Amino acid sequence: MKLFNTLTRSTDELKPIATNSFGVYTCGPTVYDYAHIGHWYNYVRMDTLVRALQSAGNTVNWVMNITDVGHLVSDADDGEDKLEKGAKREGKTAWEVAEFYTQDFLEAMELLNIQKPDHVVKATDHIAEQIELIQRLEAKGYTYIIDDGVYFDTSKFEGYSAFAGLDLDEQQAGARVSINDQKRNQADFAVWKFSPTDSQRDMEWDNPFGNGRKGFPGWHIECSAMSMKYLGESFDIHTGGIDHIPVHHTNEIAQSEAATGKRFANYWMHSNHVTVNGEKISKSLGNGIRLQEIIAKGISAEAVRLNILESHYRSQSKFSWDSLEAAKNRLQHWQQVAVLVKQPQAASSADNDAMLVQELAAATSDIAAALNDDLNTPVILSRVDQALSVVEKQLISATSVQPFTKFLSYLEAVLGINLLLNLTELPQQVATLLEARSTVRSAKDWAESDSLRDQLAELGYGVKDLPNGTTIWFKL
Ligand SMILES: [Zn+2]
Repeated sequence: MKLFNTLTRSTDELKPIATNSFGVYTCGPTVYDYAHIGHWYNYVRMDTLVRALQSAGNTVNWVMNITDVGHLVSDADDGEDKLEKGAKREGKTAWEVAEFYTQDFLEAMELLNIQKPDHVVKATDHIAEQIELIQRLEAKGYTYIIDDGVYFDTSKFEGYSAFAGLDLDEQQAGARVSINDQKRNQADFAVWKFSPTDSQRDMEWDNPFGNGRKGFPGWHIECSAMSMKYLGESFDIHTGGIDHIPVHHTNEIAQSEAATGKRFANYWMHSNHVTVNGEKISKSLGNGIRLQEIIAKGISAEAVRLNILESHYRSQSKFSWDSLEAAKNRLQHWQQVAVLVKQPQAASSADNDAMLVQELAAATSDIAAALNDDLNTPVILSRVDQALSVVEKQLISATSVQPFTKFLSYLEAVLGINLLLNLTELPQQVATLLEARSTVRSAKDWAESDSLRDQLAELGYGVKDLPNGTTIWFKL
């Protein structure tokens, strides 16, 4: 399988450290507020990577962190901790805020059918590991202590600027008014911050660095400590949003490789930005649409997922209500074809069955190929459209039900769109109405036929009359 690797800036063949087994780390949410649609693009795409690896026969150990402390408002290690800020906003403790938004995040993941990572790990549960990692860096001379915390000296790590292609001289020159004049280099970052002396934090810990002053970890050290704890000092794939490249991921690499002397992650996958009306999604613009807001407008989480898969993870995607509506219609069409599994219509014909089986096998192999080609989900969705339109035309006979069911299960596995789940057995009342409608249609009583169609719609069932004179039903 091939994936674009930010580390090499090329599309590389994935070779795991252990045969047929991948360790994947995903930078998770900072739980101080609701996740918005931009976040969901990111996590659906990471889930697609994991599904692709699994469907190619690999086992995956997937780790995602929950940042529940230490992510500051500014990348320059300045300003408030987002969790403490959220606590003030809501009149709660930082612990309560973290718990609330963590639960909300996990529930939305489930709605979007994002697989639960093998390890969902909280920064506050791994303070000891983070302190230990800082001590390793300290022992090797990579850190220094100033008034507000322990900092990593980026000038001591050769190749610091390589990952993001940073121009450090320019960064240094551009920082005429330094935010923190005790820092040795502009790019240096905090691995541990001391609690302020003039106010009480909700989250703070004893530590060996502050001469009795309590403190809390920096955001970057959390990901290094937790990824290495669960995946080892060198692991396969690290993922995150594209905006993590110049600071968060650059710093993760520097401190991890400085501590271990080994390559941190072999492959880096980054999900591109999503825009709303041409603007980046941000809280200040008020365009951070939540999943629940979309669901409240009658668009299912499954349609949202399909809409996300319509864009390639490396392209800049445009969120719009129109495209969501289009995805909803596309999903409905898929569901209408999928329901044929429950109502085989065509008479079995060896030629037809063979043609259908062949088409489904070809589609499966084309989908696998597109998945292996840097997760080309837009191509996959077109191929599904194509296969389903063949099924729709040919219909399903009793003998082709099995291969079609298998195809739908494959789609569930790789796309996380479960078309079989929506198929229920037909309630008796609905079956009776369908039967009655069939009778009046034979008698060409179109008015009565339409009235029965309306009654079926009220019960949540749609009908579609096929050219061969038969009718199929589907859930509305
Ligand atoms: Zn991270």
